[in-house]
Amino acid sequence: MLAINVERTTSRGIAIGRAFLLEKPQLKKVFDTISEQEIPTQIKRYEEAVTCAELELGKLAETNEIFGAHLEMVKDIALYQGVVEKIRAGRQCAEAALDATAAEFLFIFESMEDEYMRERASDIRDVSHRLMCLLQGVKHNPFEGMTGEVILIARDLTPSDTVALDLTHIKGFITQEGGITSHVSILAKGLGLPALVGVEEILSMVKQDDMVIMDAHAGSIILQPEEDILKQYHDKIEEQRKHQEALAQLKSLPAVTRDGKTVQLCANVGGIKDIKKALEYGMDGIGLFRSEFLYMDNSHFPTEEEQLLVYKEAAQLCSGEITIRTLDIGGDKALSYYEFEVEENPFLGWRAIRISLELKEVFKTQLRAILRASAYGEVRIMFPMIISLEELYDAKEVLEECKKELQQENIDYNKAIEVGMMIETPASILLVEDFAREVDFFSIGTNDLTQYLLAVDRGNKKISHLYNSFHPAVIRSIKRVIDAGHQNSIKVGMCGEFAGDENAVKLLLGMGLDEFSMSASVLLNVKEILRSLSYEEAKEIAERACQMQTSSQIYAVLGIHR
Ligand code: PEP
Ligand code: MG
Repeated sequence: MLAINVERTTSRGIAIGRAFLLEKPQLKKVFDTISEQEIPTQIKRYEEAVTCAELELGKLAETNEIFGAHLEMVKDIALYQGVVEKIRAGRQCAEAALDATAAEFLFIFESMEDEYMRERASDIRDVSHRLMCLLQGVKHNPFEGMTGEVILIARDLTPSDTVALDLTHIKGFITQEGGITSHVSILAKGLGLPALVGVEEILSMVKQDDMVIMDAHAGSIILQPEEDILKQYHDKIEEQRKHQEALAQLKSLPAVTRDGKTVQLCANVGGIKDIKKALEYGMDGIGLFRSEFLYMDNSHFPTEEEQLLVYKEAAQLCSGEITIRTLDIGGDKALSYYEFEVEENPFLGWRAIRISLELKEVFKTQLRAILRASAYGEVRIMFPMIISLEELYDAKEVLEECKKELQQENIDYNKAIEVGMMIETPASILLVEDFAREVDFFSIGTNDLTQYLLAVDRGNKKISHLYNSFHPAVIRSIKRVIDAGHQNSIKVGMCGEFAGDENAVKLLLGMGLDEFSMSASVLLNVKEILRSLSYEEAKEIAERACQMQTSSQIYAVLGIHR
């Protein structure tokens, strides 16, 4: 048995399972030329890969039509002839011949006028990747072979990996890299999955199929536990389940303090699945719809109709407000079908509103879809990463253009749709009084705000001890935003992870935050705390906390032991 303590925990809860070590496919670039005698062998290798791909895709196509299209592509005679020709005449090995043929196909598809055909390029990439994996004996789907209950262990997970996790088997995950407010951690919370990130050396300590206990609440991992320890943790899981059951009683009760102050408790979501889950927790609305997951979980930029379908369903599902944040891609969020230039500092680079303002058609497609969905519910629009009034004016101008178009086309939308912005950059704090006159609401994004105010990368494990939203600079900034919002009679919410931090509830309540938006899985815990607090007392405590000069003093005022 081996016990490991982890400083930084992400998503709460305890999980037990066999270790499943995630190996991402490591494909080699092979450019070998071959002799004449090797030609039949290389053709045979390619044909065998095609047969296996057809079998795999045939099964997958039964449940997802995208794979039906992939199956057609694998069978395509032009692809086959292209590869075989390069093996025969070009004396290339199967991998090199496939690589070159796929590049030719990609070039043709990417240069097509028709948007639909252009988008098929990502299918070619996927199909040739599958064939290449088969040629090199590497798993195309790294999650294949998973059975029973497992704890996923990986060097790192990207947000798209997390979206693809198979929750019938995965009960929790541990990564060697990453920070607690990286998007992967946020997604884990959304899924209600216990997660520990940035666990040094975990990959060298654990072997495939080892029994693992992970306690993401206490921050500990136990490898190959003895029977009595295993029993203790099974009991703890049972206690956890009972507490969740007790919390469920709060579902339909309001988020009101002992002395009658009501706040909004909303959920952060990435799609319809999350909304359905959030509804089970009795949320007041959606404080943050991370629309980028709709883009990431796709093989092309989603069209207006595709987006409308999702936003409309979201609006119809929610009885309260639904705040759709426009595309916040870049930083640690990539798109498989769009090539981003490599940047030295992606979080300070081409992301969020910067991309939208440059890819105007992509932006307009999204805004039109959101506007159209506003005819079906209380939809609000929110712009991410704003640093200047110019950016806000430009974004609003594009929005006005879309409204005009819809009007001319006689398409219905809510003319009084609310437009807000994320407060997550130092510049937006310093200009907050000016911004407050230009928008209908603010939502404080403490994940980015903390990283930008403190110059501490939110995903860097080495400096994760410096990443702290209880830093007085962050706390005073939050207070300034709330005050500026209220002086201009606009609502101030928070959708960064801090809003769901149990230790921060009293402070944020006392500062006057109107709306707390968080991963649905922590919503009832926060409600339980809120309902036990007195607003008058919280106000006094918040006032004192805002005068403190160090995080330790703030902890002391709040009675937090660290
Ligand atoms: C934030 O920065 O706090 C936020 C909510 O946005 P994201 O985590 O998606 O960057
Ligand atoms: Mg952000």
